[in-house]
Amino acid sequence: MSDGVPGDAEFGFELVTCRWAERAWPPEPDRETDAVPVVARQLGTRNRRWDTVVVEADPAGLAARAAFGERALDSDLLHVVRHAPAEWAWYRDALPEPGYPWRYVRAAVHRAADRDVVETRRAGNRIEIRRIAPYPDWIRRIVAIENKPDLSASAARRLGDQMDHDVTTALADEVWVATAATGEAVEPALLEDLPVEAGVLVLDFDGDDPDARVAWHPAALDPSADTSLSAETKAGKRLELAERAYGDGWRSYVETMRPDCRWFELRSESGALVPWCAAAECHQTAGECSGSCPEFQPEPPSWRTRGWPIEGGPGKGIRRLLARRRRRVRAVDPEA
Ligand code: SF4
Repeated sequence: MSDGVPGDAEFGFELVTCRWAERAWPPEPDRETDAVPVVARQLGTRNRRWDTVVVEADPAGLAARAAFGERALDSDLLHVVRHAPAEWAWYRDALPEPGYPWRYVRAAVHRAADRDVVETRRAGNRIEIRRIAPYPDWIRRIVAIENKPDLSASAARRLGDQMDHDVTTALADEVWVATAATGEAVEPALLEDLPVEAGVLVLDFDGDDPDARVAWHPAALDPSADTSLSAETKAGKRLELAERAYGDGWRSYVETMRPDCRWFELRSESGALVPWCAAAECHQTAGECSGSCPEFQPEPPSWRTRGWPIEGGPGKGIRRLLARRRRRVRAVDPEA
């Protein structure tokens, strides 16, 4: 990995890229926008997962989305929430034909009511629903970024195939490769066989905040066109992706790692809090920092009675810190 890139894993690069995107998206200095970047990592469809996803959100729409809670709405809940009427109505009259048995819709209506994202009442043996608010149109654009700090020729070949697929499917509005600055006159990524429609973003980690430079501008893709997926299917998938980005953000890595391990620390790297393993003395990957790690040791119970430092446990404090930052970002505060 290049000098200045945090850690010896793509994972660290990914976290720093996410943090940078949250602060500084879009990378083109001449593109003025009031869109709020909602950033997530490891998100996609069953067939394709992207390292970083930036949802460019309409500020008023994003604020209105908050009425539906912090968690993502899945496709079944979206079906209910988006079509729930302003006035009380039997759910079967109010909602469009689902294309699957109504009993599943009924279960989703109950789930929606449990999460307070729709109102329900009984009228005889019928369940009536009413919306709590119109579901807002909050998604302007969806951008997919592949993080490749070291883009070797073989990695570029694999990535080229995947990005060809992204370009022809046009599920995202644009696709990028993010790579670490090498200091060479022509960034090696530009010499690799990537689709010309993909942008190339070069991140330089020398300072406290990474510096980003556009080495190649991406072409705008058209998600509203039928490709291997119909425009309608893509619209549904894009909404689900955006909802998952909203619900998970990019700090949810902590939920699959072991912040309750005595060796787990968070270190500030290029503006992002990146996990550090004090046992191995390196930035561990999410895969290494799991239940099967042979070095895992539970944090001493006495730690939990003290105030917690950022560097070091206890795990619950780290979880709280990251959750609080996720919440602040949803509340449209990029400095959180
Ligand atoms: S010892 Fe293992 S579980 Fe503990 S922080 Fe390090 S990688 Fe994670």
